[in-house]
Amino acid sequence: MKHLRDERQTSLLRQARESVMFTTNRPPIVFAKGKGAYLWDETGKKYLDFIAGWAVCALGHSHPAISSALKIQSRRLINPSPLFYTEPMIEFARQLTTASCLDKAFFLSTGAEANEGAVKLARKYGAKQLNGAHEIITVWNSFHGRTLAMMAASGKANFEPLFLPKPEGFARVPFNDIEALKAQVSSKTCAIMLEPILGEGGVYPQSPEYLREVREICSAGNFPLIFDEVQTGFGRTGTLFAYESSGVEPDIMTLAKGIGGGFPLSALLAKDKFAVFEAGDQGGTYCGTPLAAAVGLAVLTTIRKERVLDNVVAVGAYLEQQLLRLQEQFPVISEVRGKGLFYGIGLEREIANDIAARCLERRLILNAANPHTIRLMPALTIGHKEVDAMLTILEKVLKTLTEEQRES
Ligand SMILES: *Cc1c(COP(=O)(O)O)cnc(C)c1O
Repeated sequence: MKHLRDERQTSLLRQARESVMFTTNRPPIVFAKGKGAYLWDETGKKYLDFIAGWAVCALGHSHPAISSALKIQSRRLINPSPLFYTEPMIEFARQLTTASCLDKAFFLSTGAEANEGAVKLARKYGAKQLNGAHEIITVWNSFHGRTLAMMAASGKANFEPLFLPKPEGFARVPFNDIEALKAQVSSKTCAIMLEPILGEGGVYPQSPEYLREVREICSAGNFPLIFDEVQTGFGRTGTLFAYESSGVEPDIMTLAKGIGGGFPLSALLAKDKFAVFEAGDQGGTYCGTPLAAAVGLAVLTTIRKERVLDNVVAVGAYLEQQLLRLQEQFPVISEVRGKGLFYGIGLEREIANDIAARCLERRLILNAANPHTIRLMPALTIGHKEVDAMLTILEKVLKTLTEEQRES
């Protein structure tokens, strides 16, 4: 039986090399099922998952609320076309605008697509109200997605030489540097776009003072502050939206990842003043399907019903305390950054990929956000038990690495 399953996975991997387009180096594992904080591969091996579908499976894998929403709504209506209203779309827009400081919501499928929509809103506002101002200021080491325009908007140095020519009109400034930002603002500026905590960049929180000053700059210049909460939103940091804890309100906000609990769904939210689209400016075949909206509603309802935010705060505090303990034990850990169930472990040496690979061998999935940062982004429903299980493996790996270092 075990032999057969091993053979099955090997044969699938062979087929993958032949048929699946290469885009990244994938580990030689084929996943078959998931439940809560765990995944199982085709051979039956069980893995503890601290990336949760890349910070998307907010409720863990295969949560019954999501399966049930998919089942009920798919029997009723999947997509009447993006032209028509449906009740799930209207209700989800109502709930998100009630829960946030924004007035209007539009639904899409991915984070990059929502951010493109945010840029379009800002450019439209610039064209109408700011004499054609079109420049969006973003931050180095930020990440906003992989469409051509979002690769141009992202502050990733390795994106720079790719796929030229890229869309223009994005200016990048250093992270958390208010003077550099002020120097970049001009009559061409139509928006500032930020992640409240840089996610892909390695979990770097912007300071509250910085965010407050950015807010003032946007208000004074009469252009929108865009928060990309694709990764930080939907409970990841312990509040429904990360901006809540800083007290700084965005004018436009994008959500994705956690909002669909693993299902493709994103949202573009704006204050009325900046909701300036005219007919035909924005749309897409899968924008606002009742199926996706029903899933989003189920995720939000479950977050409230199961008191998921309380769990994020409590388990997150425990996680932070334990990571700080680990830092005392292992000098290679230079820093522990983050909030809620969103943490970066900063490393003195570039060993993050090595750590992630060794953890995977021990059936723990975590992410090397860059060579000197391990990123944790588990399901928001995990408990102390899963944190302890993760720490046991991470500690073993760090111990082995430290010993090897000493010997060499
Ligand atoms: C993941 C991410 C995106 C891109 O979202 P996709 O759904 O992959 O297009 C954009 N912004 C941030 C902050 C992200 O973390």
